[in-house]
Amino acid sequence: MSKSFGETQVLEAVDLDIAPREFIAFLGPSGSGKTTLLRIIAGLETADGGEVILEDRRIDRLGPGERDVAMVFQSYALYPHMSVRENMAFGLRNAKVPQAEIDALIADAARVLEIEPLLDRKPSQLSGGQRQRVAIGRAIVKKPQLFLLDEPLSNLDAALRLRTRVELAQLRDRVEAGVIMVTHDQAEAMTLADRIVVFHDRRIQQVAAPMEIYLRPANRFVAQFVGSPA
Ligand code: ADP
Repeated sequence: MSKSFGETQVLEAVDLDIAPREFIAFLGPSGSGKTTLLRIIAGLETADGGEVILEDRRIDRLGPGERDVAMVFQSYALYPHMSVRENMAFGLRNAKVPQAEIDALIADAARVLEIEPLLDRKPSQLSGGQRQRVAIGRAIVKKPQLFLLDEPLSNLDAALRLRTRVELAQLRDRVEAGVIMVTHDQAEAMTLADRIVVFHDRRIQQVAAPMEIYLRPANRFVAQFVGSPA
């Protein structure tokens, strides 16, 4: 697919296939179109052409709420006036999920993320790292086939980022869903992803496993960006 904003083309005929439950990192410099492609998959942005297909189903004409995906925003986008529990329940209520099921889904997610003691707090009473877990929790309760994470670690300090990186790696084993994570941080992509998609200059430069990208970068840009010895 392609995407322009006015005169500026951001994505040019990009094409990507990912496997079920794969952990994919979109890696590239700021402004290379990573978030735009993530938002197109989420249904928050419309491409100028092309298709988004999830398990044989074309989803690009469906609204964001009708797609079996869940996005975690860089800013977390929690509702400030709602408790953690209410934040996690909100989308489920709108989808008319029965209350007993909502309670069970929230209890499950809270246990996985170790946020049980926080369920009755407001977002303003949480640290940055706790807010981030709640944002992930809100995505988990939807049981999506695909998680879309927009720079999930960028608002955390260095120590917390490292810890959260470890937790994200553990999480992917528990959620049984695919993950696409946008990042401009090579180390993050290298440690977390099954495969890395390198963006630059409107195009996908390479799609490969971290070691492959490092040892056999497709071109000079990829080599410089990942600090490859080649
Ligand atoms: P990345 O996530 O790789 O940093 P983005 O996908 O956010 O890059 O942005 C790619 C380019 O598209 C940037 O030049 C950005 O300014 C532009 N862009 C993104 N969203 C919009 C928008 N809604 N309107 C106009 N330009 C946009």
